[in-house]
Amino acid sequence: MPRFDSTIIGAGAAGLMCAMTAAQRGKKILLLESSNKAGKKILMSGGGRCNFSNLFVEPDNFLCQNPHFCKSALSQYSQWDFISLVEKHGISYHEKTLGQLFCDNSSKDIVNMLLKECADAGVTIKTNITITDVAYRDQHFHVNTKSEQYICDTLVVASGGLSIPSLGGSGYGYQLAAQFNIPCFETRAALVPFTFSDHYQPVFAGLSGLSVDVEVHTHNTCFREALLFTHRGLSGPAILQASSYWHRGETIHINLLPNINAEELLIQLKQKQAKNILRSQLSQHLPKALVLQLEQLWWPERAELPLAEWADQALKDIASKLNNWILRPAGTEGYRTAEVTIGGVNTDYLSSQTMEAKTQKGLYFIGEVVDVTGHLGGFNFQWAWSSGYVAGMNI
Ligand SMILES: Cc1cc2nc3c(=O)[nH]c(=O)nc-3n(C[C@H](O)[C@H](O)[C@H](O)COP(=O)(O)OP(=O)(O)OC[C@H]3O[C@@H](n4cnc5c(N)ncnc54)[C@H](O)[C@@H]3O)c2cc1C
Repeated sequence: MPRFDSTIIGAGAAGLMCAMTAAQRGKKILLLESSNKAGKKILMSGGGRCNFSNLFVEPDNFLCQNPHFCKSALSQYSQWDFISLVEKHGISYHEKTLGQLFCDNSSKDIVNMLLKECADAGVTIKTNITITDVAYRDQHFHVNTKSEQYICDTLVVASGGLSIPSLGGSGYGYQLAAQFNIPCFETRAALVPFTFSDHYQPVFAGLSGLSVDVEVHTHNTCFREALLFTHRGLSGPAILQASSYWHRGETIHINLLPNINAEELLIQLKQKQAKNILRSQLSQHLPKALVLQLEQLWWPERAELPLAEWADQALKDIASKLNNWILRPAGTEGYRTAEVTIGGVNTDYLSSQTMEAKTQKGLYFIGEVVDVTGHLGGFNFQWAWSSGYVAGMNI
């Protein structure tokens, strides 16, 4: 029966980082992957250019029931460490916006880099593997697959979350946590577009493809980025960020004019542009197609009314919606399109220094399977690199 120091389940971002780090320390590492190749999500990420990290990584960029948990791993292996690795491999990259770092060429550069580090350090990677069961006996983990059985001293669960099943999303990590009596927080899709089923759905469909710079407020958090209208609802970075905080039934608040006090603007327009109509004036601040839809929703009977004839209160009502449009999404697009899964392995049961389970010696959880979820912008990969490195240094 083949023996390894450690078996790592899942050759995604966290698993590859953990494997190369441990193997570079002289450990004999087996990396098992259920799909036909390693790093599938990395390949698809960042529109094919992998937003691999961010210049401004802070614990505040992560959602977790214990907001302090991520600090140790992020400081043991920071964005600067990963940037050094990328530079060592001669991979060219650029900052796109808000500190987000993307490959100049292709996400393949990152996968090839990780695979080369693993190969040079002697990691054994096996793809198309179906794990049938895992057991802990006589101080060892016994990993049974359809084709072979392996024995190892430590086991690292790096099988990710439920998002995008076609890219390897699976609940296997939660199943293993349950087997070892490690509780998980309920999961839900995050960094995911919102869907609408009410009268807004045809409105948004009519604007599909249009992008507007907005502020989205939810749960005392605010994201100032682009909003994108889609056939089924709302997407774009600002919305994806808000989705991570959203629970079914809740509202979101959108400021369509983030730099402008809309009430002051409309009252001034009434004074200075008295003969004009609201549509033509607002179109100087928002895309005309959006203004036309808002007109149908909010002031259809006043569409052709000169501003002079508007009551101040009526203008204030519109202004209040422009600065604080309250919407109640019907739901999200779900795991089918979500970039990440929120929730997962309860960090109270893991050491933040090593990622080892407190109640099961030799068992580690890293990456997305853990209840740590980053904001959009390279933070999820940084968590995968940091947590993978930390486990790799300790297995
Ligand atoms: C389309 C898309 C784009 C994204 N873009 C970005 C981005 O640009 N920047 C960013 O920071 N984050 C991005 N993310 C999020 C990021 O990809 C994840 O947070 C990150 O990949 C998590 O790493 P992981 O190693 O924990 O999990 P994964 O990368 O999901 O790896 C888990 C691996 O485990 C394997 N596996 C699952 N079950 C089993 C099993 N039973 N046996 C063996 N293997 C198993 C899976 O096939 C997979 O290869 C994106 C996500 C998606 C879906």
